[in-house]
Amino acid sequence: MKHLKTVLFLLLMSVQLFGQKEDDIFSKIRRESVANSQVMKTLSYLSDVHGSRLMGTPNYYHAALWAAQQLKQWGIQKTSFQSFDKGHRGWEISHFQVEMIEPTYSPLNAYPLAYTASTAGAKVGEVVYIPSLDSIYAMEGQLKGKIVLLGAYYEPVSNVFQPFAQRLSPAVLDQAAQNPDPNDLIIGYHSRRSTPQVFSMQNLIRKRREQFFNFCKAQQVLALLEPSDYPYGILHADGNRAVPAYMRKTDITPIASFVIANEHFGRLLRLIKLGFNPKLKVNLEAKFYQEPKYNVNLIAEIEGSDPVLKNELVIIGAHLDSWHAGTGAVDNASGCATMMEAMRILKAIDAKPKRTIRLALWGGEEQIFAGSAAYVEQHVGDLNNATPQKEQAKISAYFNLDNGAGKIRGIYLMANPAVKPIFEKMLQPFAPDNILTLQNANQTDHELFDFQNIPAFQFIQDPLDYMSAIHHTNVDLYEYVPEKDQKSNAELVAYLAYQVAQAEELLPRKKFNSPVPSLQGNAHFQLKGFLNAAQVSLVSDFNNWNMFGTPLVKTKDGWECKLELPAGKYVYKYIVDGDWTADPATPTNQLVRDGKGHAGLTEIWVK
Ligand SMILES: [Zn+2]
Repeated sequence: MKHLKTVLFLLLMSVQLFGQKEDDIFSKIRRESVANSQVMKTLSYLSDVHGSRLMGTPNYYHAALWAAQQLKQWGIQKTSFQSFDKGHRGWEISHFQVEMIEPTYSPLNAYPLAYTASTAGAKVGEVVYIPSLDSIYAMEGQLKGKIVLLGAYYEPVSNVFQPFAQRLSPAVLDQAAQNPDPNDLIIGYHSRRSTPQVFSMQNLIRKRREQFFNFCKAQQVLALLEPSDYPYGILHADGNRAVPAYMRKTDITPIASFVIANEHFGRLLRLIKLGFNPKLKVNLEAKFYQEPKYNVNLIAEIEGSDPVLKNELVIIGAHLDSWHAGTGAVDNASGCATMMEAMRILKAIDAKPKRTIRLALWGGEEQIFAGSAAYVEQHVGDLNNATPQKEQAKISAYFNLDNGAGKIRGIYLMANPAVKPIFEKMLQPFAPDNILTLQNANQTDHELFDFQNIPAFQFIQDPLDYMSAIHHTNVDLYEYVPEKDQKSNAELVAYLAYQVAQAEELLPRKKFNSPVPSLQGNAHFQLKGFLNAAQVSLVSDFNNWNMFGTPLVKTKDGWECKLELPAGKYVYKYIVDGDWTADPATPTNQLVRDGKGHAGLTEIWVK
């Protein structure tokens, strides 16, 4: 009885879904996905079989080889590996242990941090607490054989009242859809900094920490423990906290370092406070790799069927590398499995897109976009002087999936309002579950393409438990990837990529978006002073409040740029090294507001 009901229900569903438009591409995609989905099997191979996939390791490389082989088996013959190697190294754990042996025995919940040194066997030492990196220097001569507890970022996290996992509510999505300012963070995760700022910031952090780790080595400190910032024993092991990622061959190698559960860090602190001297046994055996052949992006494509348009590209991508404590199932095997499945579906239904649809699985995203940055430099445009490369004018769109494993709920338009009506039409079968927001999203691989003014987008995804438990932790595992979401994501990506590949024209690009200052045009912007600043940009209604797309060039007494603007009245201000700054040449009583949250603006009339 139960079965009969199921059969009837499925029949009814298929009549509803496919009855009317038997041949339309959306129905074909849906049908192939429902009947033959490989997405969870792909996910399991990438995460369970290959495990964590830190850049530069055999695990990463073998996952890439497997993915290429799998794509070929699905009929996607054109695959290649492209090097992004710039002296990057790999690192892998062979064995480790962290235990308290005094005042009582207790295994400690800890995990090694990448690119840190082995301990050369099990070592026993007393712990010493330092509240900050700088406070270590006062302990010169007292650190030999000690294990340092670094409390710089310690905060007890016992009071967590947010739900672990959530989906985006219609109200929040609606608010994001209405948001007029791309810089307002209604949903998602982004910080206000430009791509060049990220690179220089990360290098600066590593340089500053070098002195600390060299001191630890000289003082013969045994190991370093930093507390996790997640609750419930979850271990946050990446290279973005007290111990940065020293991922190049020429970098220093810090002493053996571990992240320890917040609660266990707290216990050790309390024992010290009570007058005990906890003794720990630590052991780390780790291996470094220096194999340029491991540092590759995987590229695969379904060649366009139109003799002219096949030279143009729609690129879909996700990063294949991961951090090392979990299996990188959510971040980002889930994104890779979705993108691979989208390609499989398009091939299986013999979609024959006019433009070429290319898949890019990036390496080294967690090491400041190593893979996608190299691709953009080689094929799209120089990241410093913007010299265009072959694909600059040919890429219609780049779509990236890297915000966890949640269902796609729309697209971050990256301050490009011109694509809105186009995507609205293309995503019609997925409405009303999906929205479009002008909002920026960054900190992943589409950022480099956007920087070169390629229409490059990140999908909006339900957050689920991404930021409460999973992101760069030891529980980034298969169990947290919902099958239903994966399937519907693959369908949406396949359908959208196909639509963009079929469109009459390439997607429109942002106005006034360039990595280098424009010095021609009828509108002249000059900012006096600020000669110590590293970067100055214009933000205005004409560039849709795009924070870094309209840079100024440094002159002998300040900064300037010229732009070709249609006649009319505009308002603007500057961003000086990340700070919103009113034009000091405008008297304060003449500064205006735009009624959309921007104040301190200067009015300019362009003829
Ligand atoms: Zn990621």
